[in-house]
Amino acid sequence: MSENNNAENASEEISLYQASKRIHPKWTTGFFSKLRIAAVLITQFVFFILPWFNYDGRQAVLFDIADRHFYLFGLVLLPGDLIFLSGLLFLSAFGLFWWTTIAGRLWCGYACPQTVYTEIMMWFDRFFEGDRAARLKLEKAPWDARKIRIKALKYLTIFLFCTWVGLTFIGWFSPIREVFRDFFNFSLSGTQWFAAIFYGFITFLMAHIMREQVCKYMCPYARFQSAMFDRDTLIISYDEERGEPRGIRKKNQDNQNLGDCVNCTLCVQVCPVGIDIRDGLQYECIGCAACIDACDEVMDKLGKPRGLVRYTTEAALEKEYPENKILSRMKRPRVMGYGVILAIVLVALIIGLFNRQTLRVDIIKDRGVMVRENTKGWTENSYTFRILNASDKIQVLNASVLDLEGAEITGIQKDLAILPGEPLSLPVQVAIPPEEYNSNDEGTPKKRHQKIRFVFSYHEQGDEEVRQFEEKAAFIRNID
Ligand code: SF4
Ligand code: SF4
Repeated sequence: MSENNNAENASEEISLYQASKRIHPKWTTGFFSKLRIAAVLITQFVFFILPWFNYDGRQAVLFDIADRHFYLFGLVLLPGDLIFLSGLLFLSAFGLFWWTTIAGRLWCGYACPQTVYTEIMMWFDRFFEGDRAARLKLEKAPWDARKIRIKALKYLTIFLFCTWVGLTFIGWFSPIREVFRDFFNFSLSGTQWFAAIFYGFITFLMAHIMREQVCKYMCPYARFQSAMFDRDTLIISYDEERGEPRGIRKKNQDNQNLGDCVNCTLCVQVCPVGIDIRDGLQYECIGCAACIDACDEVMDKLGKPRGLVRYTTEAALEKEYPENKILSRMKRPRVMGYGVILAIVLVALIIGLFNRQTLRVDIIKDRGVMVRENTKGWTENSYTFRILNASDKIQVLNASVLDLEGAEITGIQKDLAILPGEPLSLPVQVAIPPEEYNSNDEGTPKKRHQKIRFVFSYHEQGDEEVRQFEEKAAFIRNID
């Protein structure tokens, strides 16, 4: 009896874990599908092709982490330029917030790498296995020779693609031509092998295996973006008032009581995250607009106006204003406020970038030798100049010293050529003659510690425009 009860209880056990089912979205054609294809082509052109561009004899875009140089065409950013990289990150993050307030999940639907690579993987699925119905059939089919051949070809292609992705990824951080040459020679460094395999594998895992699970459970942006939404944010929505009651039209029957939705479920079949847009706004929706294309096609066939599923706003759906006023709602304070902050940061960044000092000198006082008498009998202080040319051109440097009468600077030659990117350490001496030791002409005693200024003037080799800047330092007198 108790054995029977146990068996019954076991069979009634409810699993709290629900295994996810593979989603096989149906292929859509239509305006938004074309937009998504365009977004894939543009983003992948940037990712795969941009690193192959050369500028001035070097890779145009290269984030050389080992040498701590970031090249962006004519711009060379060094560790001291971190402020500009931070500014760029701020702009990207804040720009995303701003855009989300206006247009909801447009980033997710069209440009997010997760969406873009998932879309590419779905192209492979469709190319090798066919559209939704064929893929579902293949999934249920036994592992016969045909299925093995199709799967092998598909995964071989995906493997080659992910390898290409991984190698291109490291080509953003090491010269890409050398990366591909070393790959074919099997002479990539250990770090490069690791980075390429890791990135390629992550692309495969996230875009082919996990797909919508990443958006649903892993992406933090999906979680907090609702905080940026308001009633005027563009969303993809089903027009319940127009669509309901939904139902299939039957021949020779009065269909007068039915709404425009014919319950064909095409909007569900094309959804890459497997939701039904007719259930209302859901956090899983990535805003890809595939359901709009699918439903518009159905409406066209039925001879009804498009837009049963469409881009709209919550307020417009509730008839607070007509749909043609949606664009004008962009002028609301929240959007304008974000926009003004973005514009200020952008302008500041551009001004800062164009006026940034391309030659920098750090002055380090030689603590070992505070003060000494040189061969001429002058009082001498020693410094180390750490010079950095933050441009990609040779800079010609001259230095002089202020606030110290009769001072002589040695150790740095006139018109010193500084090579791009290579930090240079230079021992430099400043000396004053004996009459400058203790007092000035009026007999006023001079301080032992004096603040002095080094003046640096520099220009690009072959360019006449001279720039100048000052750096402060301390000079110690040999007071008796
Ligand atoms: S509901 Fe529509 S817009 Fe949202 S993810 Fe699914 S198909 Fe894309
Ligand atoms: S595609 Fe349009 S008509 Fe078909 S079920 Fe979806 S909303 Fe209804």
